[in-house]
Amino acid sequence: MDTLSSPKRAAAASETGSKRQIKHLDSTVIRLYAMYDVIIIGSGPAGLTAGIYTCRAKLRTLLIAGIEWGGQLMLTTDVENFPGFKEGILGPDLMDQMWKQAERFGAEFIFEDATALDISSKPFKVSVGDGVYEGRSVIIATGASDRWLGLESETRLRGRGVSICATCDAAFFNDKKAVVVGGGDTAIEEALALSKFASEVKVVHRRDELRASKILQERAFKDPKIGFVWNSTVKEIMGKDKVEGVRLKKTDSDEEFEMACDAVFIAIGHKPNTEIFKGLLELDERGYVVTKDGTKTSVEGVFVAGDAADYRYRQAVTSAGAGCKAALDAQRYLEELS
Ligand code: NAP
Repeated sequence: MDTLSSPKRAAAASETGSKRQIKHLDSTVIRLYAMYDVIIIGSGPAGLTAGIYTCRAKLRTLLIAGIEWGGQLMLTTDVENFPGFKEGILGPDLMDQMWKQAERFGAEFIFEDATALDISSKPFKVSVGDGVYEGRSVIIATGASDRWLGLESETRLRGRGVSICATCDAAFFNDKKAVVVGGGDTAIEEALALSKFASEVKVVHRRDELRASKILQERAFKDPKIGFVWNSTVKEIMGKDKVEGVRLKKTDSDEEFEMACDAVFIAIGHKPNTEIFKGLLELDERGYVVTKDGTKTSVEGVFVAGDAADYRYRQAVTSAGAGCKAALDAQRYLEELS
């Protein structure tokens, strides 16, 4: 449940908390005088990798890390597919290492959210609350957030049986009944993670075939604890103080029915965190930043990396690679300017 995720984020932060404070105070003073070569917005693998590269290129770099710094990996446990860690590494530990690596090369951090951007003239200006920071270039690495169904009952019961992270919360539902909503890779991974604990897992999908990769589908179909409820959407999550069931509606008829369960895991995809760029940069119809010629955006001097532009791969390692590319593109752009 969310209640588990937050302490995890907090635990990852506790070791670094005092340093963060100092960094923030430093940057508050610095902002009155400083012009940055690069302002990076976002601190997942894309943003932090970009920071490592720009700092090593001796470009003065401000990293606006966000209140919930570290991105989606802060909400995961074992990461087993990031090269270099034979035994795997915990998501928050990986992000902590990346943060320290960027800091070692001189990145300056603000652990608050960027609130506005002025890219209509140069230098670019990025607002963080009352502070305005100027940069000769900007790298957007704001990532993506989980999509929710948008039901009142979903919000009310979040952390009380409603979750978006089976790796975080599955153990709470030992021998209980769980529902997973969605039909993509994430939904099937959630179902497989849950089946290790739950007595029964039902995947509720709005169509009659999965979007998930064949290999994951095969695993799920073979798992005796996992069942499927096809052509159905969730109309309501039932329960006053905790999840007690779901009311479902068929997508191919008007039929509605109820199903008892103790947990509902929502896995219906992600949306890019690009709200503040609307009207300033070209975005596609789903809100992803449109790229051209590598990591360039529709505004010269503004680059993008990671899930804010990538709906396809969305891996820590691809985001880190994109962060490297954006840093190299920014470096080249700045060299050509001077
Ligand atoms: P996704 O592929 O976009 O799938 C979202 C699923 O949720 C789809 O099945 C979609 O239904 C359903 N959905 C969307 N909105 C809904 C709504 N309002 N109500 C009910 N259902 C809804 O998202 P994802 O599974 O998070 O995966 C995103 C990307 O990450 C993919 O490229 C995936 O391959 C990758 N990924 C990879 C791995 C892995 O390789 N191990 C693990 C996780 C994710 P429809 O099918 O009808 O559209």
